[in-house]
Amino acid sequence: MTIPPADAAGIARAAVILRNGGLVAFPTETVYGLGADATQGAAVARIFEAKGRPSFNPLIAHIADATAVADFALPADHFEALARAFWPGPLTLVMRRKPGSNISDLVSAGGATIALRCPDSPAALDLLRAVGRPVAAPSANRSGSVSPTSAAHVAASLGERVDLILDAGPCRVGLESTVLDLTQTVPVILRPGGVTREQIAAIVGAVTSGSDDPAAPKSPGQQLSHYAPSLPVRINTRDVRAGEALLGFGPGEATLNLSTRGDLREAAANLFAMLRQLDDPARFTGIAVMPVPEDGVGAAINDRLRRAAHH
Ligand code: AMP
Ligand code: MG
Repeated sequence: MTIPPADAAGIARAAVILRNGGLVAFPTETVYGLGADATQGAAVARIFEAKGRPSFNPLIAHIADATAVADFALPADHFEALARAFWPGPLTLVMRRKPGSNISDLVSAGGATIALRCPDSPAALDLLRAVGRPVAAPSANRSGSVSPTSAAHVAASLGERVDLILDAGPCRVGLESTVLDLTQTVPVILRPGGVTREQIAAIVGAVTSGSDDPAAPKSPGQQLSHYAPSLPVRINTRDVRAGEALLGFGPGEATLNLSTRGDLREAAANLFAMLRQLDDPARFTGIAVMPVPEDGVGAAINDRLRRAAHH
């Protein structure tokens, strides 16, 4: 791991690493992000592995300007006005995924929405332009520790788990972005942050936040209706019952295989798309899933599979 300054040379090196499927921590105006090419599922899986996240939650895809949004999301009310008012800046907009978009399903944690943001940091914008692809990035710290606002924080938390850290000094805002869900009739603030509710209301009129409703879940991640298969799922098994599809891992016969060579990153990248493919009552009565080891990103894969099996 190296920590070059966020000058032209450092940004060029970081862009090559990202395009090759590596991990780069980069400064934004909010906190340092742990970035991977959002179009490469195996690269996105490395984010969860490096953070030690025990589950898949959706990630924000960072883009260099608002014109790119049409490639990844369906049109949403208020989008243009909000982007004009607050981008680049600490406002993340959740929209419906555009069908056929090249952003990995893992960025959406298998859901139908995508969170997009254009960060207000020259280093981040230069990097995004150099990569030429959306960059998925949560905060660049191990799961459960505080968000990093300097390159040294990132190095202390992630160490060799990240390939390169771009250093542009301390973050200006130091507070995470506001996450605003535009898929509802009235926009919903899923997470308060750098842009205030009053600022948003001045643009869109009515806006609600999760905390207005005592019955609403407190954490933004919990508000997501993640994809859940309609067919019964059985996990940790190699014996297939009549009518069942078998989702494999490692060598062996299977209807579909998460990774024949037993690569957990490849498996994570394939997980949501393959569950969706097998969730076909016209062809199968259920889905049996072979054992997946708990190491690295395997913990998050198993968390997802356990929840699928509970339905
Ligand atoms: P962080 O990991 O600190 O970058 O936080 C990302 C935040 O954005 C989390 O609160 C996520 O739950 C939220 N988020 C990302 N993608 C989505 C999405 N598609 N729908 C709703 N919330 C999202
Ligand atoms: Mg975080």
